[in-house]
Amino acid sequence: MGNDYTRLRVAVWNANCPGKIKHCVWRAISDILPTRSYLSKRGVKVDPQCLACGTSVEIIFHVLCACPFAKAVWFGSKFGFRFSHHASSFKDWLCDVLVGISKAEFCLVMILWAIWKERNSHLWEGSRASPDQVAILAASWLSDYTMANSVPHIQRSIRPPKWQPPPDGWFKINVDGALNCALGLGGVGVVIRDSRGNFVSACIKRFTSVFQADHIELLAVCEGLRLGSSLGLSWLALECDSLNTVQAILSRNPDSSFLCHLFEDARTLLSQLPEATLSHVSRLCNGAAHRLARFSLSVNDFVFWLEDPPVLIQYVLSKDCNLL
Ligand SMILES: [Zn+2]
Repeated sequence: MGNDYTRLRVAVWNANCPGKIKHCVWRAISDILPTRSYLSKRGVKVDPQCLACGTSVEIIFHVLCACPFAKAVWFGSKFGFRFSHHASSFKDWLCDVLVGISKAEFCLVMILWAIWKERNSHLWEGSRASPDQVAILAASWLSDYTMANSVPHIQRSIRPPKWQPPPDGWFKINVDGALNCALGLGGVGVVIRDSRGNFVSACIKRFTSVFQADHIELLAVCEGLRLGSSLGLSWLALECDSLNTVQAILSRNPDSSFLCHLFEDARTLLSQLPEATLSHVSRLCNGAAHRLARFSLSVNDFVFWLEDPPVLIQYVLSKDCNLL
């Protein structure tokens, strides 16, 4: 754990963002950010409950990660995080997250700052932004800051992450899940392309009695592996935009939740495809699967395409391959 904290310290202080934000995140890690719970414990007469949801004590991990408001911001951000695991502290959570992201992606500290700033505006000014607005604000701060600090005369373009074709001879499977919590409906979208970005196959499938994002993402991974396997493909690079799901499958830790059988299914399917890989990818690289997953909520059961892609994703497929 000591090494993890050292990596965390290095990552925070090397993050591509203003110093005040690094200080804010470091105070959160050090458990000294003045949350309502922190102030209450120190004798300040303040309601320790979270201002945004009113259902939990406002500790640092809650306000930045576990609160429904914060969760919605993370989900709306380019990371597309869906929180389900229960870290014991904000520091432990950030250590876990660090495992799954590159140094360049550590700009996520900008999102932490945006959530904290929104919480302060809510508290002190009574103003309220939507989770989407907070996610967009964080992205625009990051882009402004990066532009302002780019070295002149050297061409440094800030390109958003983009879908990448797999190596020659490989197939890439993108999967995604979508939810309609009110109806308990979940849908998955799967797209398979070859190393030139050519469409190979796709499918959508709808499930009932699904209420959690982690559940539908796990079903999406299983469907992706099943489709690849049923087509006789073995050199498969499967990408999913839920970091939690990828980490949970790869960690092989025993899981006692109601999803444990599905985790076992995913691991068994992976083990039957020894050349297959599973990795996390930004939502920006997962547009085709995302569209299909959304669409699947409105159709019955299962639809499958081979060779000719559905019209719904033709634009995204072309864009991914620089054809537009
Ligand atoms: Zn809350």
